[in-house]
Amino acid sequence: MERKRVLITGAAGFLGSHLCDRFIREDFHVIAMDNLITGDLRNIEHLFKLENFEFYHHDVSKFVHVPGNLDYILHFASPASPIDYLKIPIQTLKVGSLGIHNLLGLAKSKQARLLIASTSEVYGDPTVNPQPEEYWGNVNPVGPRGVYDEAKRFQEAMTMAYHTFHGLETRIVRIFNTYGPRMRLNDGRVLPAFIGQALRGEDLTVFGDGSQTRSFCYVDDLIEGIYRLLFSDYALPVNIGNPDEITMMDFAEEIIKLTGTDQKIVCKDLPVDDPKQRRPDITKAKELLGWEPKVSRAEGLKITYEYFKSLPKEALVNKEHKDFNTYNKQ
Ligand code: UDP
Repeated sequence: MERKRVLITGAAGFLGSHLCDRFIREDFHVIAMDNLITGDLRNIEHLFKLENFEFYHHDVSKFVHVPGNLDYILHFASPASPIDYLKIPIQTLKVGSLGIHNLLGLAKSKQARLLIASTSEVYGDPTVNPQPEEYWGNVNPVGPRGVYDEAKRFQEAMTMAYHTFHGLETRIVRIFNTYGPRMRLNDGRVLPAFIGQALRGEDLTVFGDGSQTRSFCYVDDLIEGIYRLLFSDYALPVNIGNPDEITMMDFAEEIIKLTGTDQKIVCKDLPVDDPKQRRPDITKAKELLGWEPKVSRAEGLKITYEYFKSLPKEALVNKEHKDFNTYNKQ
């Protein structure tokens, strides 16, 4: 039997590369695409030798051409950390708007099913906790996060329009904070920031008073949820995340225990529009997909810490993270 063909955009990124692995394991033909602005080929280089894997170095904000038929498209190309949006705001807006338009057109012409990576950021700084899919959000369109949040909101709107107007088969996953091997150590996100600081023997930087919360999902759980959603028949957005909520201060203490270091915690300015609370309501995922996270934070953090420790020493050099407050004030 012919293999089913799936296009994965953002394939060299953290989530994209894990998706490539999963679809290869399920015996798909995987067409990976990335412009490598934030992605890293090392995340997928183990796949290049496979006959059912191919890679296109391409920016999906420009017209996308893929020869042959396509059964599925997963749109995971986007900068995804607050420091990235501050550094490359225009690209962030373009990939969520022009990029999705190109991919929707491609999906329509190939009659492929398209799943988009949306985000808990569509809820902005939420006034309800946990956040159900029906919550419309509290987003500042002109703040530093607006370039990401609004691109993702537009992406959802565009996807639904193709679904209702053209009858295209679409799926929308709203991804909450996710962690695991292949995160970029210097992307400014809290988990690699804390682990990087612990490994370098620096103090851990908690932003604000550390009372803001996040809920962290281990990457394998997330990929399982996305896989199930793709093959479900549900076109409205579904939250995938781990509801185990923690404050950033408690999280910093957890990382200090995990790494066995005796670093201090220092408080820095809270970034503009930093959400005060975030926790997914996963009732829908449970009911529709029979999905819930299986990996506890303790287990997931151990695996992730081992991964970061195994990286070459140069990876530890802190280039980007120190700049956060500079970018943040622009
Ligand atoms: N944060 C922190 N110290 C850091 C980096 C981040 O306290 O060195 C906080 C940040 O202010 C936010 C939370 O950790 O409240 C998660 O930030 P992240 O950048 O990982 O992603 P977000 O969930 O805000 O998109």
